[in-house]
Amino acid sequence: MLDRSVLVLNKSWTPIAITTVKRSFSLVFQDHALIVHPETYEMHNFESWLVDNSNFCESNAPEREGWLRTASLHIRIPEVIVLGRYNGIPRRELVFSRRNIYRRDSFECQYCGGRPGLKYLSIDHVLPVSKGGKTNWENCVVACVRCNTRKGNRTPDAASMPLRSRPQKPTWNDGVGQGERVPESWARFVHADGKA
Ligand SMILES: [Zn+2]
Repeated sequence: MLDRSVLVLNKSWTPIAITTVKRSFSLVFQDHALIVHPETYEMHNFESWLVDNSNFCESNAPEREGWLRTASLHIRIPEVIVLGRYNGIPRRELVFSRRNIYRRDSFECQYCGGRPGLKYLSIDHVLPVSKGGKTNWENCVVACVRCNTRKGNRTPDAASMPLRSRPQKPTWNDGVGQGERVPESWARFVHADGKA
């Protein structure tokens, strides 16, 4: 639950990043951000978020989807937050991670186009590490285990296995909506195709 995605808006309500519920709460605690109510779009600090009865109920209330239960509270998790001061676009837009490569490539093998499921997918270095290939957005792609094994320690050319698309660093919101539920409250800020 704490790893769920939260949309981050800058002071001008422009989407600039996606973060986790955990990080959102931390930003709100430190007064760096306010929670945007998913239905009314009213802004709340942590206290007013709790005071608004639609976001809070006693911990003995039944489990609810999208709510976080602690020892004494049952809190609705934020879906959108707005930063208090920051109005720029962060330079590091999307964390380079295994998960984000999977998302960028839509869980699809970039050699055969197959989608065999997470268990049979791997990350391939287009130019093998042994040949000086870097671990970055431009040199890492999703490959099914079969293709990865077949390609081995070769370049796509040497293996006669052309890439379906040239790997690139995604912009922050590429991949939004792929393989995960996008909250309705994001719709006002992010278009249906996931582009801001
Ligand atoms: Zn494949």
